[in-house]
Amino acid sequence: MTTVGILGGGQLARMLALSGAPLGLRFLVMDTEADACAGQFAPLLVGDYRDEKALAEFASKVDVTTFDFENVPAESAQWLSERVPVFPNPRALAIAQDRLAEKTLFRELGIPVPDFAAVATREELDAALARVGVPCILKTRRLGYDGKGQFRIRALADADAAWDALGAQADKVGLIVEAFVPFQRELSVVAVRGRDGEFRSWPLTENWHVDGVLSASLAPAQADDALAEAAIAHARKLAEKIDYVGVFALELFCKDGVLLANEMAPRVHNSGHWTIEGSETSQFQNHLRAVLGLPLGDTRMLGHACMLNWIGAMPDAAAVLGEAGGHWHDYGKLPRAGRKVGHATLRADSREELAASLQRVGVALQRQPQVEPVIERLR
Ligand code: AMP
Repeated sequence: MTTVGILGGGQLARMLALSGAPLGLRFLVMDTEADACAGQFAPLLVGDYRDEKALAEFASKVDVTTFDFENVPAESAQWLSERVPVFPNPRALAIAQDRLAEKTLFRELGIPVPDFAAVATREELDAALARVGVPCILKTRRLGYDGKGQFRIRALADADAAWDALGAQADKVGLIVEAFVPFQRELSVVAVRGRDGEFRSWPLTENWHVDGVLSASLAPAQADDALAEAAIAHARKLAEKIDYVGVFALELFCKDGVLLANEMAPRVHNSGHWTIEGSETSQFQNHLRAVLGLPLGDTRMLGHACMLNWIGAMPDAAAVLGEAGGHWHDYGKLPRAGRKVGHATLRADSREELAASLQRVGVALQRQPQVEPVIERLR
């Protein structure tokens, strides 16, 4: 009996556990919160990721460790890796946790990025603004996600306000200034690399964000083959360089047909949730196969798919359940503003059918602003 340990017990761990059940796997999830939603399906160990006693108990009960949460302290991942196999490896995790290390690596690999500069002091912020120019975004290097820990600088006069907002973080998590990209589209590559180095990618996905949080994903992205191939080649190069094992996402901006890498997520990713019903093998199942050294599953798509995120509270399920290709995912979380509480995936054999399905769901749930950009893209 194989037990997979997962650090972090949110919806990603929950969906990993659900997809691992047919493989006969057992799970142990560790989270700082006793009501972590993966705990509804897998044994949950409540503890701090820095607590060696809790980590030792966790390590003694699992055969392999992986992550649902990318901000597990890199030292804890390292400590665990000396006792039990950990995938992705702690070095890859550490790079992905730090926007500066990540962007520096992208650049080294020839993956284009928006211009950026590290910032440690108020003076360095001025120097960074002079170099990168405005508009730009001041971001925390670590622990930021879903648009948190970011301040948009529209003009040089905003520098004081930006420093007031994030300057206190400079010592703790570091800061980075990134050029603002007036992109037309946001894309992501969700891919998997096995322990033997085998690499597979799902088709390129297009994403829409609202207030920095993913709102909708469409796959395959309506992009020409060359663009999709370039994006996937970037992801492959990155995974090979850091000997990545498991599923990861590479988020990209597309401006005037040019790709610029934003960040890498070292885990299964929200923009890959559509793979559960929209592809031969889901990102969750392939992540487990990868970390266990099992053969990877085929990543081809089954038609066209759109994932809609439910933020704050779950809408009524009936409209989605009434669709032939409608799939519902309620994470079993309490409603809270800004919280990802669930998602739906609509799948169809053609773009036209998917657009019609989105239209019906958008009207029924009064979510037209969420579905309209996707429908527009499908036309
Ligand atoms: P992140 O936390 O870096 O993924 O940022 C969240 C969202 O903010 C992204 O998905 C974009 O919509 C937006 N964003 C982040 N960085 C930039 C940038 N350099 N230029 C334009 N928009 C950005």
